[in-house]
Amino acid sequence: MATNEFDLIARYFAHQAVNRKDVALAIGDDCAVLDVPVGSQLAVSTDSLVAGTHFLSEADPVRVAHKALASNLSDLAAMGATPAWVSLALTMPEPDEAWLAGFCQGFFALAEYYNVQLIGGDTTKGPLSLTLTVQGFVPQGKALTRCGAQSGDWIYVTGTLGDSAAGLALLLGQKSVDDAALAETLIDRHYCAQPRILAGQALRGIASAALDISDGLVSDLGHILKRSGVAAVIEVDKLPLSEELRRFEPDAEKASQLALTSGEEYELCFTVPEVNRGAVETALAHCGVKATCVGQLRPGTGITLFNAGEAVDWQLQGYDHFAE
Ligand code: ADP
Ligand code: MG
Repeated sequence: MATNEFDLIARYFAHQAVNRKDVALAIGDDCAVLDVPVGSQLAVSTDSLVAGTHFLSEADPVRVAHKALASNLSDLAAMGATPAWVSLALTMPEPDEAWLAGFCQGFFALAEYYNVQLIGGDTTKGPLSLTLTVQGFVPQGKALTRCGAQSGDWIYVTGTLGDSAAGLALLLGQKSVDDAALAETLIDRHYCAQPRILAGQALRGIASAALDISDGLVSDLGHILKRSGVAAVIEVDKLPLSEELRRFEPDAEKASQLALTSGEEYELCFTVPEVNRGAVETALAHCGVKATCVGQLRPGTGITLFNAGEAVDWQLQGYDHFAE
């Protein structure tokens, strides 16, 4: 970017103290130099956020940074990995220092909370977008994947579902609520999800499969079903809904539908063999995360929804796996 690319990097990105012993060399050279602990495998994930597509151009940069890093860390959580390093490729139309200051505030607050070191990146001129690559460690052979689920395993989700979609509908002006505090809470849930890092690690050796909910429960669970070769029953009346979502959408059926399709939740969806059900409760209680059993895997393909014991044939927005 322009003449002051190096100034910008130095001023905004190169100041994070290096507290990790596994970082031999961080920002400032041609490459970062890093040590992977003996006995661990590296889990790596990249995600891009483009202004106008993944966030509104006028969105608060503090929140954009949180969302960008949280969504990447959520991928590590879903593998049961411990986050270590992140790199950032940033493209912006002009060096906008106010935006950068806000972005760094949100970015480093979350990075430091999880002891994640920014180890490098790239800074270029163009339409506003960010690409993050996160790297973390997982004990050899212990990563949680999408393909180990078996018929009979139980389906769980962490936290509550639906708030992110409600917040987005408010942001986009598709819906409104009279209560300003309620609107603010839901919008905050849209931007400021907490990646389920500790829960993911706690589920290693307990869950048979896992992923994070970025496209909506039905859509994402579909990936586990395909990769594992099983079908699922979801009991929609068991879905964990927040108090705020119930106030946003008092119609129970519509609230459940939001919970089934809400993307960018960054909660974990995971499957558990019957023998490990007790272990789930204990493991997640230790990290203070609520998990709810919402259904069970069956032989076959596709997802069947039950509401209060009756099969329902809801047409869900953005979900096309029903036909399988
Ligand atoms: P090169 O031309 O060798 O690719 P750059 O000038 O792009 O190097 O970057 C110089 C240093 O600053 C490198 O260590 C790079 O990783 C780091 N860097 C550049 N942009 C960013 C950024 N947005 N965030 C973090 N580190 C960055
Ligand atoms: Mg470069």
